[in-house]
Amino acid sequence: MNYNKKTVKDVDVAGKKVLLRCDFNVPMAKDASGVITDDKRIRAALPTIQYLLEQGAAVVACSHMGKPKGEVKPELSLKPVAARLSELLGKDVIMADDVVGPDAQAKAAALQPGQIMLLENTRFEPGETKNDPALAKAMADMAEVYVSDAFGAVHRAHASTAGVAEYLPAVSGFLIEKELQIIGGALANPKRPLVAILGGSKVSSKIGVINNLLEIADTIIIGGGMSYTFCAARGGKIGNSLLEEDWMDYANEMVKKAADKGVKLLLPVDTVCGDAFSPDAKQMVVDTDCIPDGWTGMDIGPETVKQYCEAVADAGTVIWNGPMGVFEFPAFAKGTEAVAEALSKTNAITIIGGGDSAAAVQQLGYADKMTHISTGGGASLEFMEGKELPGVACLLDK
Ligand code: ADP
Ligand code: MG
Repeated sequence: MNYNKKTVKDVDVAGKKVLLRCDFNVPMAKDASGVITDDKRIRAALPTIQYLLEQGAAVVACSHMGKPKGEVKPELSLKPVAARLSELLGKDVIMADDVVGPDAQAKAAALQPGQIMLLENTRFEPGETKNDPALAKAMADMAEVYVSDAFGAVHRAHASTAGVAEYLPAVSGFLIEKELQIIGGALANPKRPLVAILGGSKVSSKIGVINNLLEIADTIIIGGGMSYTFCAARGGKIGNSLLEEDWMDYANEMVKKAADKGVKLLLPVDTVCGDAFSPDAKQMVVDTDCIPDGWTGMDIGPETVKQYCEAVADAGTVIWNGPMGVFEFPAFAKGTEAVAEALSKTNAITIIGGGDSAAAVQQLGYADKMTHISTGGGASLEFMEGKELPGVACLLDK
């Protein structure tokens, strides 16, 4: 895939109507009060919005929220987002009552340069997730240029993320530009050595990432729940630890493939296990292959931490996807924290992908020490799998 895509800086938007796809899929309070519990995604969209407005564009913003499945669900309205966006921008955000209906059409037609409006939740339209050309065309008809800045949705070929690009010149905003430069750069032409740290719960959810990174990385480090399947596959005792029996053969194949390719593959040598899967479980450190019956592997052990930190110390690039242990329980967050700290101290380009990994790095206080934390969970995973992202492929090449 070509990651070198045109951006808002490569097109003239002055006096033009711009359809801007944002990722305003923010978490809302469960009581349907319309309170946004985390506005990070709205704030992340501001640089592109402000740039477009300063250039004299009229911005028709759009986004999905939740899964209304093609029906109008008032609790998934974007009205609270328009209100918050208006506060952050310090200017009016005109809210449409529909996506491509008469209200949206009229408001878009009347929109002046320097003004911004927001369409209703794109998934209120049944054609959105089906990438219906009629819906895509109706959205495109409201504008003259399409700007995509919703990295969290680029792995979906929907009407507002890919379909519209059939009808309008399509470029990226600053959020997608950064994701492409940093993650795309690391995949296509990494500063070496490239170290990939892979963890999280399951091998099965990371197959694509392991396969792709085995082709690119110099070192692969395995931790988290998935490491116990690798351990069991070579005959180790793993007690009650997470096991995916169906993926044991695959794990052995990967170990062999890495050896054949000369890729260094590091597996945990010791593990912190608990007598229950609970935050206050009794804990002890054992060799990874010797977890007693009744005990569960919860985190990488101290010797493993030492080896993994050494392996990233002189890296050129580190891609990290998946925590090293059950970091949600502070007693079992030490391995994840030690790796985060080691990354914060390297001179390497450090890239964090994956929703839980990003949350872990944030929660542990290392977010501002990383080169890049991807804004898309599922999208960053598919990116690292080497898959073509429809919402990126549809943008104009530089
Ligand atoms: P990401 O969202 O970054 O891609 P995953 O979703 O694959 O990461 O995995 C994150 C989850 O893995 C976390 O909720 C964490 O508690 C869990 N996890 C990590 N280590 C273990 C383990 N040893 N046993 C069970 N779950 C684990
Ligand atoms: Mg996850």
